[in-house]
Amino acid sequence: MANQRTLSIIKPDAVAKNVIGEIESRFEKGGLKIVAAKMLQLSEEKAGGFYAEHKERPFFKDLVGFMTSGPVVVQVLEGEEAIAKNRDLMGATNPKEAAPGTIRADFAEAIDANAVHGSDSPESAEREIAYFFAADEICPR
Ligand code: GDP
Ligand code: MG
Repeated sequence: MANQRTLSIIKPDAVAKNVIGEIESRFEKGGLKIVAAKMLQLSEEKAGGFYAEHKERPFFKDLVGFMTSGPVVVQVLEGEEAIAKNRDLMGATNPKEAAPGTIRADFAEAIDANAVHGSDSPESAEREIAYFFAADEICPR
């Protein structure tokens, strides 16, 4: 099994609900370490660039509007198979389809406000981590 890093975002809906700590606890109990973290208010430009792969999708404008609606926590999680592990802990994109006990099942209401982001491949993890963090802001331990 490979030790990996993945980019995680606690989205504005979850920050507004005051469940940052409960979500971080899921990651830590799931065997992932938080090796970098910061709270940010995303600009439209920063949020749009992050979700550039969805630029042509009908929901892109709503997605950027949502991601800029309040602060987010961006962070790097590290551990064995961290990318897949994080996606498992998150649950399906649509909280109504997310497995019981997952973050999205427990903390999200709808597909357009679904509590967390997680990188979906090693390539996206590399791009997304570099999008938010300089190398010296990551603290492996
Ligand atoms: P993820 O990797 O599970 O986050 O899902 P995707 O990469 O497919 O989509 C990125 C984000 O766009 C999702 O987490 C949702 O917040 C949002 N999204 C996806 N599908 C829809 C949709 O049909 N409508 C709206 N409003 N947002 C969507
Ligand atoms: Mg995605």
